[in-house]
Amino acid sequence: MSTISSASLLPAINAAPVLADARLHYVLRHFALAYEAVPAGLIGYADTQQSITVADAAAGFFQAQEPYPAAPNYREWAGQRVPVFFDAQPALPLLELAPGRCRINADLISAAFYLLSGWQEYYSDSRDRHGRFPYAASVQKRYGFVALPVVNYYFDVLRAAVEYVTGQPLRPRRWAGGAPVAAFISHDIDNLRSSWKVPAKADLKAVRLLRFGRRLWRHLTQPDAWDNLETVAATVASYGARSTFFILPEHRPGADGTPNADYRIDRPLWRRFLHLASQGFELALHGSIGTATDFARLSSEQSETFAEPASGIRFHYLRWEPRQTPMQLEALVMAGLRYDAALGFAEHYGFRHSYCHPFYPFDFTRGQPHSFLEIPLQVMDATLHHPNYLQLRADEILPALQPMLAEIEKFGGVASILWHNDHFDPANILTGPRQFAEIMAYLQQRGAAFLTGSQIVADLCGA
Ligand SMILES: [Zn+2]
Repeated sequence: MSTISSASLLPAINAAPVLADARLHYVLRHFALAYEAVPAGLIGYADTQQSITVADAAAGFFQAQEPYPAAPNYREWAGQRVPVFFDAQPALPLLELAPGRCRINADLISAAFYLLSGWQEYYSDSRDRHGRFPYAASVQKRYGFVALPVVNYYFDVLRAAVEYVTGQPLRPRRWAGGAPVAAFISHDIDNLRSSWKVPAKADLKAVRLLRFGRRLWRHLTQPDAWDNLETVAATVASYGARSTFFILPEHRPGADGTPNADYRIDRPLWRRFLHLASQGFELALHGSIGTATDFARLSSEQSETFAEPASGIRFHYLRWEPRQTPMQLEALVMAGLRYDAALGFAEHYGFRHSYCHPFYPFDFTRGQPHSFLEIPLQVMDATLHHPNYLQLRADEILPALQPMLAEIEKFGGVASILWHNDHFDPANILTGPRQFAEIMAYLQQRGAAFLTGSQIVADLCGA
């Protein structure tokens, strides 16, 4: 794939040094969120007196601005071959037990911090034509672990250590009062009016004028096949589920020509959205092209589209500039923003931050966690079959996703699935309603709690 390396156009790096304490604090805060009742004060670096010590093997990496650390070693843990960064003593066991104490011989704190903070994309200059950090430039691609939530494996080592020194089991957190795994189903509403366009263009090109004329007539007199908000909601509800609709307020193309919505939000459409909200579906903001790096426009889209500012956002085309977008979202927290839902790779399903739980993105400028949550995205419909992405057959989709979904279940995480409303068109036989139904049936059978984004935020940090 083409990777545009355009350092001169990127925002400048503006980062505070990240010292060992800041890494430890950031990582342990997430460890405490991932399990029930984690006892505090047990884990520290090797020069401290804690009963669980972690080797310090980062050797100045976080004082420099290199995007990539040395290649990982591989360790067997919980039935998987797990890549371990900052592992300076591969000959030693990962976990060494002594009476009442234990030692972790790889720097799992630094390794977890590196992946969870998104260090690679902050310091890398690689961006694709949509300004996104490309999968091709990631350590997940280079070392082949995009479908493994590696940080959760690091946390599982910490869990084993805590259980050993306390003699008490440490259980993964549960969702909605008891479910072992959560599912966050969402729909970016890009198109409501354009289902006829692609086949009509094909008719014109092949000079099938009668068919073109019939299609045009149908378009002018009947609802569009993509004007299907109620069908989408009814499909989701048939699994006892609710989902989140990301609404795109801008219908004019972005400055770079990339299309935004093919609809305008008029009163009748807004009434339909409100009707979905009254049934328990969530309405959230789909930030238009350019808003990931334009705070004034982002802020007005957030405050002007909704009667009450949306608590969730995902940028159109999953746009996200690591050096700028998180700070813009931080500035919207006072205005009611609670979570973002864009951080997945468009090119491949899996874990962009190698973590299957929601997390607080790292604020590189201030050297501390942001105050909004990221609910990371693992599956987007278009990723699965697209000229630029994967080319899975329809019957290969669920089998391809199942091992990754099983990893999420193993650690009690959140499976985030983006299925655009236009992919509910029955004419879509590759990544369409049938493939969505297979994924939903699988999640339901596994006992997933289907939660909207704001329900996930409330479950994790209170309403
Ligand atoms: Zn979109």
